[in-house]
This record gives sequence, C-alpha cells and structure tokens, in this order.
Amino acid sequence: MILSSFRAHQFRNIGDCELFFTPGVNLLIGENAQGKTNVLEGIYLFARGKSFRGGAERELTKFGTDGFSLGITFRDERREQALTYSFEGGSRRREKNGAPVRLGEMLGVFRAVLFYPEHLQIVKGAPEKRREFLNVAVAGVDPAYLGLYTKYAKILDNRNALLKQASKGLPVDREELVAWSESLALAATDVYLRRRAYLLGFAPRAEEQMSAISDEKETLLLTLEADTDKETPEAVADDYRACFLSHLERECAAGCTLFGPHRDDIGILLSGLDARVYASQGQQRSIVLALKLAEGEYNREKTGDYPVFLLDDVLSELDASRRAYLLGAGGERQLIVTSCEETMCGAAENIIRVSGGNYVSAYR
Ligand code: ATP
Ligand code: MG
Repeated sequence: MILSSFRAHQFRNIGDCELFFTPGVNLLIGENAQGKTNVLEGIYLFARGKSFRGGAERELTKFGTDGFSLGITFRDERREQALTYSFEGGSRRREKNGAPVRLGEMLGVFRAVLFYPEHLQIVKGAPEKRREFLNVAVAGVDPAYLGLYTKYAKILDNRNALLKQASKGLPVDREELVAWSESLALAATDVYLRRRAYLLGFAPRAEEQMSAISDEKETLLLTLEADTDKETPEAVADDYRACFLSHLERECAAGCTLFGPHRDDIGILLSGLDARVYASQGQQRSIVLALKLAEGEYNREKTGDYPVFLLDDVLSELDASRRAYLLGAGGERQLIVTSCEETMCGAAENIIRVSGGNYVSAYR
C-alpha cells in the first residue's frame, strides 16, 4: 500500500497543506514544534479512526478556527482510493471515494503501522502497554478480534461489578457469579486463542527483524504469558473455568477478577535477559522497531501488501548501523519518517521540510 497524498485544512498548526509521497523513504524534516508529528497524526487517523495522541476533535482543530478537514489518496495493487475526514460545526463526516461512510466501513481500508516515541513503553512500561500493542496488532489482521475483545470486556465488567459488591460486604447471588464466570471463560478462550495464533506467526518475524537491526548481535524471544498454555478451545476454556471458579473467595475480597486475558503479558527475552527489566535505551528502541517492522511483515502476509510505515522520531538513540538498516528497509515498503537531523537527508527518496505548519517538498 502506498500513500500518494495527504491534505489538511485547519488541522493542528496547519492552515492548508497538500503533500505528495513517493514509495521508499519519505523524510519530514524540521526543528521541534513545527508540525512533523501533526502530519503523521492526520494520516494515522484514517487507519485507527481516531488520533493516536488521544486528542479530541476540538483539540485537533487549529486554534481560532471552528473545524478541520483531512484527506488522503493511496493505492494498493488493485486501485487508487481516497478517504476524507472532516469535523465542522460540531459534526463529523467521513467519505470513502466520495461516498459517506461510517467508522466501521473506514477502518481497515487504509492500513498503516505507527511508531511513536511513547511506544517505547511497550518494553519497560506496565503490561497494559504490551497488551495494547498486541490488541492493535491482532486487530490489524483479524477483523473479528475487536468484537470478541469488546465482548470479553463487557462480561468482565459485569463480573467485576458483582465482585466489588462482595468486597463491600453486600450480598451477592453466588449462582449469578458462577454464570458470569462461565461466560467469561468462553469469551477469554476466544481472545486467548486469537492472541496465541497471532504470536505464533508474528514472533518469528519479530525475531528476524531484531537480528537484522542489530546485525545479528542480538536475539529476541517473545512469549505470551497467560493463565493457560493449551491449544484446543476445550482445554483452554477448562483452564479459565478453573481460574475463575477456584479463587472466588480471593476475588470477592479483592473486588475484581484476578485472572484472564486482561492480565496477560508478553515476555520479551533479549539475548537471554528479560528486556522488560534490563534493556538499554537503544535496545528498547530497537525492540519496538523490530515489533513494528514485524507487524508490517505479518500484515503483508495476511493481506497481500505492506501497510504504510509511519515512524515518528525513530532515529534518535539508534547507532549508525541500526539507522542504516532501518532506512535501507524502504524498498518495497513505504516509510514516512520524521526527524530533526539534517544528516538523515541522504537516505531519503523524498524530503519534506517543515516549518511553522508549512511544508516544502524536494524530490531527489
Ligand atoms: P518535535 O520535533 O518536537 O516532535 P513536531 O514538529 O513533531 O515537533 P508537532 O507535534 O507536529 O511538532 O506540533 C507542532 C505544533 O503544533 C506545536 O507547537 C503545537 O503547539 C501546535 N499545535 C498543536 N495543536 C494545535 C492546535 N489545535 N492549533 C494550533 N497549533 C497546535
Ligand atoms: Mg514530533
């Protein structure tokens, strides 16, 4: 998938812009606070349906104006497509190839993988960060996953409400608790099996990428840390049932569910050491990059072509050979990379200079 163009009107610090991209490496270069990340935010909004910085639409609207609009054109092997997104007079409008669409119809049409500096938390942050990565990655190739996860989360909320009641000493219908536990075991099985299947295909790709980024100096091993390690739906459901039914007293005291996919983690072993504890800054960045490149590889295997890689401030802290590997990874892949460093320009097919929300392109 190749992003051909991006246009924005009254978005963040951008008045009006229209940018064109080439296959290979596109570099957005400029000093701090000029509008580099804003472009990636606008592009990625089409992949995720919302801002990756968590900005509400009012926040995305340029100060002193009352709405914004964005548009992208992109092509895959079959055709050129266009998506637009606008927020005007308090209402939102999405269009695909000129026709209005709902959020669900827009998601999955334009595919992108994002690296954002906050993603460094995937390595050393709380398990929640790793689960979030996994959820986004699985949803990228498995359209049913988000629905199943949402169903699990709803059942979990109901079970937690009963446990909370119990923790306050209020009476709880035990049969109801057992019934929610049974539903939760089945929903947990669906989520676990999809995560497991994803990691089975994804982990070897991530391990290859880590080896390539580090010039074969480092090895990566990813494992899913869950309350079960079984493979068949029956055996997995039995394990979850046992978790949910055997520790009811403890859970009633805690007031919440202590087992299940919402507590999963990903084990990350880098050259034999737990990266969650021991990885250096550069190693953290390299691991996250390996995960993101692998997400793209796996996405291509499942869909037939690469997603667009949006890499925000990825180059700092990487040594020269790791930078060279990353920028050399262009080829068939399209990379849109932001940087403050002039020295990076040599590696790019297309350079866009960014200053105060203005963009000047210099094709090479
Ligand atoms: P850095 O190199 O520091 O990451 P950047 O070029 O990526 O910088 P952006 O995050 O794109 O910078 O932001 C550029 C500017 O946009 C910031 O100065 C910010 O204050 C401004 N900005 C953010 N939201 C709005 C808004 N709604 N209206 C106008 N300006 C905004
Ligand atoms: Mg930035």
